[in-house]
Amino acid sequence: MNKRPLVIAIDGPSGAGKGTVARNLASRLNYRHVDTGAMYRAVAWKALQEGLDLEDEEAVSRLARGITLDAQGGAVAVDGIDISREIRTPAIDAAAARVARQPKVRAVLIEQQRKLGAGGGVVMEGRDIGTVVFPNADVKLYLDASPEERARRRAHDPSHTAGRGAAAVTDIANALEARDRLDRTRTASPLAVAPDAIKMDTTQMSVDEVVERVLRMIEANHSRSL
Ligand code: C5P
Repeated sequence: MNKRPLVIAIDGPSGAGKGTVARNLASRLNYRHVDTGAMYRAVAWKALQEGLDLEDEEAVSRLARGITLDAQGGAVAVDGIDISREIRTPAIDAAAARVARQPKVRAVLIEQQRKLGAGGGVVMEGRDIGTVVFPNADVKLYLDASPEERARRRAHDPSHTAGRGAAAVTDIANALEARDRLDRTRTASPLAVAPDAIKMDTTQMSVDEVVERVLRMIEANHSRSL
């Protein structure tokens, strides 16, 4: 009888609601929440701090291997220092997408992500969780929303206001689109829908609606693991 706690993978583009849904779902199930985007952001932040060339894959992957990252439970720390606010800026948005293109950097972080999820009981969000990190995840969700709605959410997200000033929603929409294009077209783990993922368009849905729907689905299919 399958009693192992589940691995729940949530993927999708920026502003689709992954973070809020993952956090709520983890809290309802008493699971851990791992934000893998924060791991790429933290590596980019540290690389900039150290004055590294972000295109130097060897140097950035060596740095990624040498630091201690903690991206669980909403806060993000590098070597014990909380950088939760510092990594949510437009500069780090762009820098994270650049380091995330590099296969050697991804290899380091994917290994850590697999360790974090190995025992189950985890809701892990990112771009490649259901396709690459945990292709055998028990539950795979792919959240999406219209570009306008994603930009609107990002513009109103209090954790993303640092260093942005009063950027117009159209500027945010343009930056999101550019970053999504990078994420979708890179060769290493591009953002893609896993064939067995449940796709949800959250444009017209509240966080509560998404979470309730996912919980009902999990109860219907995995009641023995809860
Ligand atoms: O989700 P978030 O916007 O914080 O992710 C920051 C960047 O990290 C993304 O633009 C993407 O390039 C990268 N990322 C990734 N794979 C993941 C999570 C994030 O490539 N699993």
